Amino acid sequence: MSSVKDLFNFPFSHIYVEEKVMDHELTRKILSRYAKSSVIPITHYKDVFNRPNQSFLLQKAVPSLILARNTGASVFQGAPVCQDFGYDHFYYTSCARNCIFDCEYCYLRGMYGSGNVVIFVNLEDILSEVEELLKEHPVYLCVSFDTDLIALENLTGFVARWAEFTRSHEDLTIEIRTKSFRKDIYEKIAPCDRVIFAYTLSPQEIIEKYEKRTASLAERLGAAACAMEKGFPVRLCFDPLIYVQNGKDLYTSMFEEVQRNIDVHRLKDVSVGSFRISSEYIKKIRKDFPTSSICQFPYENRDGYMQYPRELQKEMENTLLTLLQSFISKDKIYMTDTEEKT
Ligand code: SF4
Repeated sequence: MSSVKDLFNFPFSHIYVEEKVMDHELTRKILSRYAKSSVIPITHYKDVFNRPNQSFLLQKAVPSLILARNTGASVFQGAPVCQDFGYDHFYYTSCARNCIFDCEYCYLRGMYGSGNVVIFVNLEDILSEVEELLKEHPVYLCVSFDTDLIALENLTGFVARWAEFTRSHEDLTIEIRTKSFRKDIYEKIAPCDRVIFAYTLSPQEIIEKYEKRTASLAERLGAAACAMEKGFPVRLCFDPLIYVQNGKDLYTSMFEEVQRNIDVHRLKDVSVGSFRISSEYIKKIRKDFPTSSICQFPYENRDGYMQYPRELQKEMENTLLTLLQSFISKDKIYMTDTEEKT
């Protein structure tokens, strides 16, 4: 894979398709893009995705695509380690499993045995589930979960459909989190102040080392600026903060770049959170990636989540806070770790 732009034409030489979605409109659309790929009918996506003894690494390098129907509940309440941004009813949903980006610290490496990408083609069923939930109360929903939805937009069109759905449901607010460079999406969807585009930012050195295939810092900032220009609320996520020896210098120069490229006064808000991962997931990741400095770091297990030692975590977050408060007001800064506004 020579360039991040190539990802949007990911080759997917093999496409597994559940028989029950073979005639689904989105299945047909995706398959028409991959006329040269081998299409393999399957009964259930788990027969392929959950197969024992798969190599996450090998599949991640050259993933297959799996098209499936998501059955059962698809909308879930947010976990305590996720930021709720002050919304009372915080949920997430996964329209896909796995991601075409390849971050070394990604929890999906610990969660799934497979590096293949699953797309649930029946988005309409998830939308109906959200409609039911909206009858009870307003909903804040993270829709780019367990994947990077913008990175899959060429295949799925899901971002456009979520944006349209949200515009017509006034009690729904969605967040679409991404590390993508794509700007064209903002030409295709109408702005809505309840469709939040959230850009995860890291210093370029960390991106190059640990966030493979993702857009560069400059590209992410360019896309975020474009979203703001088109009238979408934009959130910057400094989450996860990754410990590196010269981290303070790296984060300082990243903030300078942020301020050069973004009108920070127009940001909806920002979030800050240090790297954390379920202790269950890291067991598998450590076995699979014995040389990864992020995975092998001696974290502390606090409430089932592996986190940086408290002092180090505080120091990293305080450094970020000091930098942030020089250009953004306190009430727009959300700390993931403490679950409260600073
Ligand atoms: S962009 Fe997010 S979901 Fe995708 S590999 Fe990176 S951390 Fe995982």
